[in-house]
Amino acid sequence: MAQAPARAASAVRLFDAHCHLQDPRVAPVAPALIRAAAASGVARFAVNGTSEKDWHLVKRMAEDHPAVVPCFGLHPWWVPERSPDWMDSLRRFFAETPEAAVGEIGLDKGSRGRTIDFREQVEVFWRQLELAKELERPVSVHCVRAFGDLLEILKQTGPFPAGVLLHSYLGSADMVSGLANLGCYFSLSGFLTGMKSTKAKQMLKSIPLDRILLETDAPDALPKLDNVSVSPVPVHSSDADTEKHHKDSESQAATASNESLNHPENIHIVLKYVASLLEMPETELAELSYKNANKLFSYPGSKVHPEAGDI
Ligand SMILES: [Zn+2]
Repeated sequence: MAQAPARAASAVRLFDAHCHLQDPRVAPVAPALIRAAAASGVARFAVNGTSEKDWHLVKRMAEDHPAVVPCFGLHPWWVPERSPDWMDSLRRFFAETPEAAVGEIGLDKGSRGRTIDFREQVEVFWRQLELAKELERPVSVHCVRAFGDLLEILKQTGPFPAGVLLHSYLGSADMVSGLANLGCYFSLSGFLTGMKSTKAKQMLKSIPLDRILLETDAPDALPKLDNVSVSPVPVHSSDADTEKHHKDSESQAATASNESLNHPENIHIVLKYVASLLEMPETELAELSYKNANKLFSYPGSKVHPEAGDI
């Protein structure tokens, strides 16, 4: 009798719901990172563009790698340097790439975001939320210290039947139900290791089980845990633009070395940490977060297809 092929080392399957493999700090080794992560059970990677400058890189990466789900969006940090026809350009990418989702877009009142006119951030965010609704695609949202504004804007523009992915969610437990009612999913990354564990636990336990996602936000959000060692990205830190492309964390130093760069295989560390706080078996959390991501990203035109049992 024919034997099933040996399974990958890991018995779990995972979906990295938000990362940036087009980032110049890791782009040269992205194929190797994707291969290594895939061998460990990571079946999909939602790769998010952040500005007009990198959308073409995301598009090409998705063409080269069947496992990459492309996402196009203008991140709040790059709002000041948008071109006058940024929205036309964004629409063109969606027209040419029917499998794309929207992201990364958002609001930021953190140390970096405070330097960027908030009214402009809101306007750019709003227009992209409307676009996501019009295209009926999920949208990946960055929110730093602006959850009150986010909830208000989502209430006014929502609901979002195609779903909103709150990436690297670090908001409070109290915010969860209001956001979930508007169609939000809560995507957890290595940044969670920087939150007090009692607070993180309370927040995690307030998330409906069908709204939990896992992500790496690679090359950012390297998980930092005392007893866990992470494998470095095999690149040299001579890449230019390190600071320019550093996103999502306010506190990161601009001088990233290889050791501080994250990569998708580290999603296993996020899985382990979140499972421990939720007091849930890792295999169960892997499967439910995979199914949630698969459902969210299986919109018409997507590379991702609904699984049996999903509606
Ligand atoms: Zn991101």
